[in-house]
Amino acid sequence: MKLSQEHEFRNYSRTLIRVWGPQHWWPARTRFEVIVGAYLVQNTAWTNVEKTLRRLRASALLTPQGIRRTPLRRLQSVLRPAGYFRQKARSLKTFVAFLDQHYGGSLSRMFSQPTATLRPQLLALNGVGPETADSILLYAGQHPIFVVDAYTRRILDRHHILPANTKYDEIRSFCERSLAPIAAQLRTENWQPGTDFQPTAHDPSPMSRANRAPLAQLYNDMHGLLVAVGKNYCLKSKPHCENCPLQKYLP
Ligand code: SF4
Repeated sequence: MKLSQEHEFRNYSRTLIRVWGPQHWWPARTRFEVIVGAYLVQNTAWTNVEKTLRRLRASALLTPQGIRRTPLRRLQSVLRPAGYFRQKARSLKTFVAFLDQHYGGSLSRMFSQPTATLRPQLLALNGVGPETADSILLYAGQHPIFVVDAYTRRILDRHHILPANTKYDEIRSFCERSLAPIAAQLRTENWQPGTDFQPTAHDPSPMSRANRAPLAQLYNDMHGLLVAVGKNYCLKSKPHCENCPLQKYLP
């Protein structure tokens, strides 16, 4: 890996923060809502997740206790709009059983574990891959870990930084190595809104405003900004580079 590529990725973050500012991930009121959302978003659109979260909230199921006490069939029925609802209901039940067994049902106790301890525990759970585990760690637990998704993969590939089939943890390490040195300097809260196109960001929420260290804040902001690039310009079928803020970095 060339040092210049890390330097270049740092410049992506500087550019995106300057032009777009905060995207307010994760849109949620509580840590548990983030966790549920991280499971639900697998293989479905965020709009379906929002609809399902509303159904869960209306049924008082957006708590560990709610998931614990609800029969599986009933939970499956509430989760139906998220797709793969049978599997997702089982996975949420598994998560709460894990929380109860290892941490006495306490998210605070769970998240007080070092990242190196908790991450493998989450990855060992049914229905948790690296993106879900890292979303839970970063957005619910404020652990400084970069979330790699399909948008990040596509952008790095199209800019000839890392091929799309690079292993998840290799991409994550690259992003973390690139961004860590500038975490204390780059804060989207200092962003000055421009007059150009602004992607539709989430409204600020208790979880997007949660207290977190500068490194976790930068990983949070940068992931949201790369999602905005992917959704608005770096489309799977055809990239619209002509207006993309990252155009100047194209190889
Ligand atoms: S749309 Fe073009 S310029 Fe923007 S990130 Fe994708 S490949 Fe790069």
